[in-house]
Amino acid sequence: MSGNAKSSSIRDVAALVEAGLVSPAMMDPLRLVEARYDIAITPAFRDLIQSADDPIGRQVIPRVEELDQAAFQMADPIGDARHTPVKGVVHRYEDRALLTPLLICPIYCRFCFRRERVGAEGGLLTDAELEAALGWFRQHPDVREVILTGGDPLMLSPRRLGRIIAALSDMAHIDIIRIHSRVPVADPERLTPALLDALSTEKALWLVTHVNHAAELSEAASQALRHVQKRGIPMLSQSVLLRGVNDSVEVMEALLRRLVRLGVKPYYLHHLDPAPGTEHFRVPVERGLNILRGLRGRVTGLAWPTYVMDIAGGYGKVPLGPHYLEAGPTMMEGVTDPKGRHHKWPNSDF
Ligand SMILES: *Cc1c(COP(=O)(O)O)cnc(C)c1O
Ligand code: SF4
Repeated sequence: MSGNAKSSSIRDVAALVEAGLVSPAMMDPLRLVEARYDIAITPAFRDLIQSADDPIGRQVIPRVEELDQAAFQMADPIGDARHTPVKGVVHRYEDRALLTPLLICPIYCRFCFRRERVGAEGGLLTDAELEAALGWFRQHPDVREVILTGGDPLMLSPRRLGRIIAALSDMAHIDIIRIHSRVPVADPERLTPALLDALSTEKALWLVTHVNHAAELSEAASQALRHVQKRGIPMLSQSVLLRGVNDSVEVMEALLRRLVRLGVKPYYLHHLDPAPGTEHFRVPVERGLNILRGLRGRVTGLAWPTYVMDIAGGYGKVPLGPHYLEAGPTMMEGVTDPKGRHHKWPNSDF
């Protein structure tokens, strides 16, 4: 084990103790967490952790707080199950649907909204299940966009991923293939030429990488993003607003600036979903709005993400603001500028 410790992921509490990321006294309590939620920390992420409580460590090192399960938390906070017509498909909006070919991830984020389902045990669709899921897409001409997510689709072998992309590319009604992945930052070396070849298609293919802190965009990650971009694949990012990780104007600004500098357009900033054992990550909406207000006017509009909440129960994602229109007796009385000054609405739109 120790011989290749550098090149393999940390996958249990014992290895965390050995790596000095968890104190031996915490071993027993954390075993209860481990029994419930998988652990994985790639060498790339391990290298970024300076202390267990820093913004990278907090995202992937288990804590006993994960055993606190508040009453309002839900195993399936965004209601995937209610919108699953066949295994591996989630169809909540008319024009797009998710395809989840596996539930394995390079790292297991401690705040994950699908934490009750993701894990190294797999959830890999069998050939027959994958065929049935693809069949569902074939039979749904209203669906124009397939969102490959999971788990992490870039954890598939190039061969299997290539087969999925090819099958989707053959469907005339599909315009867009979107991939959501943590791999570019969590395991950049996985983006080999073979895996990138698997992504080649005549359709528009967009890659959305999940990244929460500027430090995740290491030299290796930046290089991986460049390889993706050289293939003509446009890149977006999504982040989750997390306490102790990115819940300040300065940290958020550094993340967003680094993303645009790398040619990645920040797409969504997610409000934390109420998944079990994640309360220690919660940032109140009002603080989230204030962080964004703090960036408005100061940071290029290219860096601006939409702050969204997935309404618990599976009712969909909605933007949360901040809003600059001021409500008054006649509905819209004025508008606030980025510095917080009030102005009368300049024309008669209403
Ligand atoms: C988040 C999500 C999407 C994608 O929504 P966009 O707003 O287009 O990014 C699609 N389907 C489901 C079920 C989702 O949860
Ligand atoms: S990579 Fe995504 S799906 Fe996997 S654990 Fe992290 S947040 Fe969850």
